Amino acid sequence: MKIILIFLLVLANINLTSGESLLKDHHFFLNVIYLEDERLPSIPEKDINIILNEARDELRLKFGAIYIHFDYKGKQDLKSFFDTYLNKGSDYYNNLSNYKYKFFSGSIDYSPFKKPILKFLKQWKLWDLKDFFDKETKKKIKTYDDVMEYLFKGYAEKLNKLESLKLENGEYLIDRENNNHNSYINWLVAMYFQDLYDIIITNTIIVYDDISKPYPHAVLRYAKVGGSSFESPNRVIFDGTSGMVNLFEMLTDISYFQKPYQEKELNKNDWNGIIGRYIMAHELAHMIYLIPDVYDHPKQCLMDSSYATMDYYEGYKLLKKYPFECPLCKPYANAREHHLLADDLFKKEDYEEAILHYKLAKKMTPNKLDIPYSGYISLLDYKIAHTFYKLDDKKSALLYLKNALKNDPNNEKAKQLYEQIK
Ligand SMILES: [Zn+2]
Ligand SMILES: [Zn+2]
Repeated sequence: MKIILIFLLVLANINLTSGESLLKDHHFFLNVIYLEDERLPSIPEKDINIILNEARDELRLKFGAIYIHFDYKGKQDLKSFFDTYLNKGSDYYNNLSNYKYKFFSGSIDYSPFKKPILKFLKQWKLWDLKDFFDKETKKKIKTYDDVMEYLFKGYAEKLNKLESLKLENGEYLIDRENNNHNSYINWLVAMYFQDLYDIIITNTIIVYDDISKPYPHAVLRYAKVGGSSFESPNRVIFDGTSGMVNLFEMLTDISYFQKPYQEKELNKNDWNGIIGRYIMAHELAHMIYLIPDVYDHPKQCLMDSSYATMDYYEGYKLLKKYPFECPLCKPYANAREHHLLADDLFKKEDYEEAILHYKLAKKMTPNKLDIPYSGYISLLDYKIAHTFYKLDDKKSALLYLKNALKNDPNNEKAKQLYEQIK
């Protein structure tokens, strides 16, 4: 079944793109910073450029089309970053904190969120979710409700374990007082308000504390975050998205995390390759192509987060072994290329062509994205409207603005343009 589907998709792509990428020469210039947690093992700054180059090369291998250039801005203290950007008075924080696991509380009360959690889990097949559990548990799982129950059982165990871990000097890994930067929810907030960086590299431990989205590959592994993409409305390069790569697991001395791929066990090339290719390129593909974490794509897939690639080194070895595109990721790349091409055409004031490609992007975008689908479609509607406006076609512009606001009533740009021309 899967083979046939892949075959059909490959055919569809040949049709759509004649086997070639739309974008011949699209460049992204990304600001990168290293946020260092001084309590934890770190890396020499000279390694950062090597890692960035690995990520760039992997992305070109998997998706072609886009040139990435990294502008490394140096090292900054983690605490001062959070002091500046973690806006706890904001609505954004208040909203997210509803779903936040309270550190050291000992248990997770997910009962108020059962409905959204079930909806979240149902984006994957029951079969693929079962894979994350041991043999005995697998037998007991018959429904999504069962998955939820066992998922949260495992999740709570991992959280309690993280809270109990200590560093060599006897201090707790997660400080009892100063732990703002250890919360994933807090990262979401800080990244939402920061306006300077597209990619953040860090060596701190980030606990996955968003109860409403229990990604099995995250909560059952260590309940921590190895990398993520974020909403950053003030960063315009990817229409308001940024990313983070976490080196903690690759550097820590704590035996609980010891794996064959850690620095001492592996040659430096592979070590940099795991971070650059397996972790960073994956996050960049979330940001650029909006591909979600997938559990059912073929082995060469950069976005595969299934049980088979839960081990970084195993996942990295698969990427090395199959250095070619994933046919199931290709529709995402195609749709996104139309969008990026349309942006280029808009800048060149070729508005008629721009509209054509925005419309194609809208039509071709798969409906399971790494970000909310309706928000993304609203963005495309806004861009179509804006382009019609440039052509002085206010009637069409208003039509698309109405669509944009229907899909996302909080689309500020659409609201503004609507007020301006209605
Ligand atoms: Zn991912
Ligand atoms: Zn894929």
